[in-house]
Amino acid sequence: MKILVVNCGSSSLKYQFINMDGEKVIASGIAERIGIQGGMLTHKVPGKDKKQFSRELKDHSEAFKLLMEVLIDPEYGVIKSMDEIDAVGHRVLHGGSKYSESILIDENVKKAIEECIPLGPLHNPANLMGINACEEVLKGVAQVAVFDTAFHQTMPPEAYLYAIPYEYYEKYKIRKYGFHGTSHKYVSARAAEILNNDKLKIITCHLGNGSSISAVKDGKCIETSMGLTPLDGLIMGTRSGSLDPAVVKFLVDNENMSVDEVDTMLNKKSGVLGISGLSSDFRDLEQAAEEGNERAQLALNAFYYRVAYTIGAYTAVLGGADLIVFTAGVGENSSQARENIVNRLGYMGIKIDAEANDMRGEEKVISTPDSLVKVMVIPTNEELVIARDTQRLAFSK
Ligand code: ADP
Repeated sequence: MKILVVNCGSSSLKYQFINMDGEKVIASGIAERIGIQGGMLTHKVPGKDKKQFSRELKDHSEAFKLLMEVLIDPEYGVIKSMDEIDAVGHRVLHGGSKYSESILIDENVKKAIEECIPLGPLHNPANLMGINACEEVLKGVAQVAVFDTAFHQTMPPEAYLYAIPYEYYEKYKIRKYGFHGTSHKYVSARAAEILNNDKLKIITCHLGNGSSISAVKDGKCIETSMGLTPLDGLIMGTRSGSLDPAVVKFLVDNENMSVDEVDTMLNKKSGVLGISGLSSDFRDLEQAAEEGNERAQLALNAFYYRVAYTIGAYTAVLGGADLIVFTAGVGENSSQARENIVNRLGYMGIKIDAEANDMRGEEKVISTPDSLVKVMVIPTNEELVIARDTQRLAFSK
């Protein structure tokens, strides 16, 4: 069985085509500049050179048609006909309070995704365009929606409510939702599987360009660091994370900025980019800090500090911790970030094994045998979770 996993942004369409017999990726890529000049699709087949196809892509439907042409292309393709696509799984940003699980897409689900547009104004419309494009091109093929918010729906009200007048929660459903749910779910479940124990208190750290932390008790999420939107919580590549909400009014009053401009600044020009003034990329910052750039070092220190601070808070929330898991671009690849974060947690009896930590992208325990809390690296695989959910829901009858 072959499943196509799709992640649509406002001007992009990322895909992975997975053969579920062996769970192997047989092709992957991205269509970019959809709706703007210079459309392009970059297609990768494992073991072969990547191939670029340039074509104006008016909308997601045209991008999807080009993807189909590429997948069945005699030279670069991986299948003979579109009939070999058994089902499609879509990454959808916001499922609001309605979806705590993935779901087979029908008209009602599409309506619910549309109703969540105010909560995910940038992503949900793009996700819907992807679903409609796929429906048009692959008529009758089962489609499944996998929500970034779903895993966090088990949080209790005391964790997800904001302390603003309750009527805004009732009227607009303003609350903490959390994101990266598929990743937190995958790595926490994988840890339970590796340790052969599903009764664990786990703190999962998804540290990438966007970063979030979750507290997972017995497989269920009870707290997470992102909020109504992905802007809250940790210091990220370009997002500020948590700050005093009064900063917005201060800048509107003093810097002659509109609320929209402040919002863009907090999302796109802040985080480690904002502090360092240099880059949002941790590789650049690590290198610059090594060469003596103090602002790069300050940005990294602020990032490590906020992660360690949040792990401390989540240890309290969980009533202790059995395991800390690092994942995503920085969590999987930066031994320096892991070391600097774990070294701030010595008070918990945690000890890092420097030799074990000296690696990238491996599924591995990186704490010493006598560490009171285990620390692991588990590479995330959101596409695989989407593909598995899609297979389960599309063919469960
Ligand atoms: P996204 O949130 O966009 O999915 P990723 O999870 O891919 O992000 O993470 C991207 C981040 O991971 C970038 O900041 C990049 O610098 C960082 N990263 C990737 N490889 C390394 C590495 N070897 N050392 C340090 N940081 C790395």
